[in-house]
Amino acid sequence: MKKKLKALFSNLCCSVCKSEFDDDSIEIKRQEQGLIVTHLTCRHCGKNFGIAFVGINNIEVKNSDDLPLVVQEGPEPINYDDVIDAHRFIRNLDEHWQDHLPKNIK
Ligand SMILES: [Zn+2]
Repeated sequence: MKKKLKALFSNLCCSVCKSEFDDDSIEIKRQEQGLIVTHLTCRHCGKNFGIAFVGINNIEVKNSDDLPLVVQEGPEPINYDDVIDAHRFIRNLDEHWQDHLPKNIK
């Protein structure tokens, strides 16, 4: 899955130092069905690009020109409220993640 993420970011570069992102730039924070929460950092200059929510379907990659990746982007630039919303979203997931475990696991 990380390979697909790398493909998604492979044509992008750091806005500060222009270095391309690599495997180490991408840290997967959470992986849910059809959704990955990833943290992007430039390993060259250390610029922190924050959290990205990436929607991914389960179709296998046929070729590099047909990656089944969709970046969920809103029509407006991310603002402060969006960051707070994302923070709350992740925190809520953290609070309830055990609900996804089978009941017979102690
Ligand atoms: Zn950089």
